[in-house]
Amino acid sequence: MFTPSARLYRIDQVPDHFREQFIISGYRHPRSSLKQCMRSIFEPTNETANFWTHFLPAVVFMRELYVMSRELDFVRDPYTYPMLAYLLSTCLFPTTSSLAHILNTMSDRARHICFFVDYLGISVYSLGVAIAYRAYSFPESLLGTLFADVFLVVAGVNTVCALFMSCETRFMRTGVWQKVFRVAAFCVPYLFDSLPLAYHIVVADGGGGSLYLHKLQFVFAFAACALYTSHIPERFSPGRFDIVGHSHQLFHICSGVASYFQILGVKHDLKARRGHLVANRHVLSFGMSIALIGGATLLGLTVLWAYSNRLDRVMSAEKRRTQTTKKPAAMMDGKTDAEMTRRRIGDGKNTQH
Ligand SMILES: [Zn+2]
Repeated sequence: MFTPSARLYRIDQVPDHFREQFIISGYRHPRSSLKQCMRSIFEPTNETANFWTHFLPAVVFMRELYVMSRELDFVRDPYTYPMLAYLLSTCLFPTTSSLAHILNTMSDRARHICFFVDYLGISVYSLGVAIAYRAYSFPESLLGTLFADVFLVVAGVNTVCALFMSCETRFMRTGVWQKVFRVAAFCVPYLFDSLPLAYHIVVADGGGGSLYLHKLQFVFAFAACALYTSHIPERFSPGRFDIVGHSHQLFHICSGVASYFQILGVKHDLKARRGHLVANRHVLSFGMSIALIGGATLLGLTVLWAYSNRLDRVMSAEKRRTQTTKKPAAMMDGKTDAEMTRRRIGDGKNTQH
């Protein structure tokens, strides 16, 4: 009888889609129980720091939300609605990410679902950023233009497209194109959201004291993107950074720091520009802030439901195919399922100590 072990595995002992480039050891069992996953939060696996490097930012951002809720009137002051929508999305993405990193080894299906939810968090966050920028950080010279009018519409479309594209990559073969599409799914909305601020920084019209915070945010965001795509430092010494110091952890840290500077910059703009924006009727409505982020989240959940159904169909078809063909060579050729998992890790006997 196969019994999932809490011990760790090497890359050649886990199914293909559980493998991470240049990470050689520290893998958890691909069918861990919920209890084992939760216990691994405090054990040295190759996912432990991935959890903490987004869980701690989530706590910091939730604290920011709490502090802001005491400073601002999120219920009766419409000027603060975009800030609430933004902060909720900022709390969401590191929370879904940390949960995905700790729970993804419960099964093949759980792994896909976990990262679908992770992508939902990132996509909704991109819309939250757009709402905050449009409400508080838009350059003065762009307010009242067509670009300002369509900005949130395009950002909303980007959010949905990003979610579709990132979920779609989980059905693609592992390789360069999968990486390209996944990076594009996250980068295109971010770059679009950043257009007004990039313009702001270049032209510097009415930038005030928040510009250096936005610049710092850009520096850390681009560092995060570079780390995510380059797999530095582990590509230079595979196996050495398996537990601590690999690129995904550094990517999490940089993205967390970038978001923190972003919060500070938006907060500064909210306070510094309140009088001017309110006087000139540039306040976003409830519908273009809270309702928009809520609607996008619901739509995103619908997309995830559709993708989880598709996932079930694909996994069922894969299972039927492997049961009828029963060709070991084919099974070892990247077609992962529970049977293959059992073969690879040999009922928990071939474990690393
Ligand atoms: Zn991650």
